[in-house]
Amino acid sequence: MRVRVDLKVEEMPKYWYNVLADLPFKLDPPLDPRTKQPISPQALSAIFPEALIEQEVSEKREIPIPEPVLREYAVFRPTPLYRATYLEEYLQTPARIYYKYEGASPTGSHKTNTALAQAYYNKISGTKRLVTETGAGQWGSALCYAGAKFGLTVNVFMVRISYEQKPMRKYLMKLFGGDVVPSPSDRTNFGRSLLEKNGDMPGSLGIAISEAIEVAVSDPGTKYSLGSVLNHVLLHQTVIGLEIKKQLALLNETPTIVLGCHGGGSNFAGTILPFVPDKLAGKNIRLIACEPTACPSLTKGRYEYDYGDTAGMTPLLKMYTLGKDFIPPKIHAGGLRYHGAAPIVSRLLKEGLIEAVAFDQEEVFNAARLFAKLEGIVPAPESSYAIYGAIKEALRAKEEKKEEVIVFNLSGHGLFDLIAYVS
Ligand SMILES: *Cc1c(COP(=O)(O)O)cnc(C)c1O
Repeated sequence: MRVRVDLKVEEMPKYWYNVLADLPFKLDPPLDPRTKQPISPQALSAIFPEALIEQEVSEKREIPIPEPVLREYAVFRPTPLYRATYLEEYLQTPARIYYKYEGASPTGSHKTNTALAQAYYNKISGTKRLVTETGAGQWGSALCYAGAKFGLTVNVFMVRISYEQKPMRKYLMKLFGGDVVPSPSDRTNFGRSLLEKNGDMPGSLGIAISEAIEVAVSDPGTKYSLGSVLNHVLLHQTVIGLEIKKQLALLNETPTIVLGCHGGGSNFAGTILPFVPDKLAGKNIRLIACEPTACPSLTKGRYEYDYGDTAGMTPLLKMYTLGKDFIPPKIHAGGLRYHGAAPIVSRLLKEGLIEAVAFDQEEVFNAARLFAKLEGIVPAPESSYAIYGAIKEALRAKEEKKEEVIVFNLSGHGLFDLIAYVS
């Protein structure tokens, strides 16, 4: 029988975990794009509300989750932790494999964890409209849902290729009242300048971010919202790892390997950051980020200051990056097509506290199909990189006759991505 661990609503974490409080080093500060000097928190207030800027730089270990956000989390949290019994049997592995299922959220991915928090802090600081970018649409739909919950208008710049090829999440965004346009668009100077050169440019996340920021800085009632990469986004995602810790404790299990897929780093970080103190204390635990070979920021990128967007409007972040002009090939895992990586994840990698691996799309999709048939959940193409990583570790454990306790985050379901499974 499959083991499933559910926590009660009362057992939901009441705070987010801030890893910056425990790291024995300080992160390199973001730089102002004009002066190339460390950016002042005030300079960020054109695009973010005060509370989120505070969280971005906070060194407090536990940051309380506000009551209205807890109330919205309770719609779908705590999310279940499953033992992958059927996968274990199929692989004939001595490893025990568990997965956290974030696809249980209202829009089918972990992104609602930060969308709800960001919408709440914007609402209480007087923001009327949020503007953002989205690739495959998971982030856009999460923010439109959160906007509907907290009474904010949401404008989404959606990477054109996804807008055309993945219409389902566009409809989901519209269902939640969002205003969605393909990017590059004719709504911004940057978008128009690109369209003049090439009328049917496929677009990229970097371009869509530039468009969203251009709109945000031009209107005081409008703020920008980012679905990954930044410290406060990773912070909000730590509910995932905090819940996993409680769920494994109920089973008397201690994980030896924890994995997540990696795009900008938010679901990976949300899963592994609560385990970083164990790693720092010298416990036997490996934390592994799984990324596509088609967009290998962690495994092939350079560790240096780079812009978060293509136009060079965002602060410069110290991170592993493929360069702001890198346009990744059109892989199915749209959410993993970002040129950079979260500064926190980047530094952890640089310090050897985490590992990174890259996989090809084909082997990953075979694992995803297998997982769907065995475990009964169609995984998001993005999450499938973590599944494949877990399978590889389980097979290694079998070869080495080693007992491992493997946990991975299933960051979303793939029911809107079925086309990827048949093409
Ligand atoms: C957006 C997304 C990702 C990648 O983003 P991260 O910030 O790296 O987590 C992964 N999985 C799913 C399901 C997503 O929607």
